[in-house]
Amino acid sequence: MLVARTVEHARAALEVLPRPLGFVPTMGALHAGHLRLCRTALDECAAVAASLFVNPLQFAPGEDLERYPRDFEADRARLEECGVAVLFHPEAATLYPPDFSTAVDVGEIGRSYEGAARPTHFRGVATVMSVLLNVVHPDLLYLGQKDAQQTAVLRRLVRDLAFPARVRIVPTVREPDGLALSSRNVYLSPQERAAAPTLYAALQTMLSALQGGASASEARERARAVVDPLATVEYLDLVDAQSFTPLERLRAPAFVIGAMRLGATRLIDNLWIA
Ligand code: AMP
Repeated sequence: MLVARTVEHARAALEVLPRPLGFVPTMGALHAGHLRLCRTALDECAAVAASLFVNPLQFAPGEDLERYPRDFEADRARLEECGVAVLFHPEAATLYPPDFSTAVDVGEIGRSYEGAARPTHFRGVATVMSVLLNVVHPDLLYLGQKDAQQTAVLRRLVRDLAFPARVRIVPTVREPDGLALSSRNVYLSPQERAAAPTLYAALQTMLSALQGGASASEARERARAVVDPLATVEYLDLVDAQSFTPLERLRAPAFVIGAMRLGATRLIDNLWIA
């Protein structure tokens, strides 16, 4: 596996790869969820590129940019073993020179839910993804369903700006107790870790209530009762899969989405309704 630290080096390495080329963007601290994305890409593409970049633009001041888990050697070894051909691993100063001043904003779809909790987050995600797509030029872009709103935001970005890539969404990989794998799970104390799977349980409760004919408000109340008292629910909702606007009744395609706080850690999760 070739590791490229500059745009020029990445372009030269990517140019000679066979097509179709799959691309898996990550922030590192890789787990089985990231590797599922790589394996899916390898099954469907002639070659796969990944990126490892903890994007400062998508962290607000006071968020966990500095303490975000980093282990480059372990990540490099995992990606290599998986069969990734090129890893783009730029320094922040390489992607964002001091006079970098462009921002990509997808509008309303990035303002609710995660966008409300983290107002500059999706602008940072859309901006870095525009840069990465312009460097990598993939045929297929692989994203995890785990970050449901991000998939909706990036689908919109790819369509609106006519990036010549197709978006593939890969199902969420979970721990045996249902907790969605996340690089941030390492922040949880043992008590918080024990409480964490109740987010998934709440989403399942909400979905079965909706399938039984309940409204989103009724289903939300039943779901709240399942959440561990140690956790603070930020939202539980039913949204249209494309627009991410709330729905009062089940109408596919949709997501049941949830976020909760456990101590200093925010957890998000969702269920896809096809
Ligand atoms: P991150 O490194 O957190 O930015 O995630 C990189 C990619 O991996 C994103 O497309 C995520 O949605 C995806 N991802 C993160 N966690 C999981 C998971 N548990 N299962 C599947 N994909 C995931």
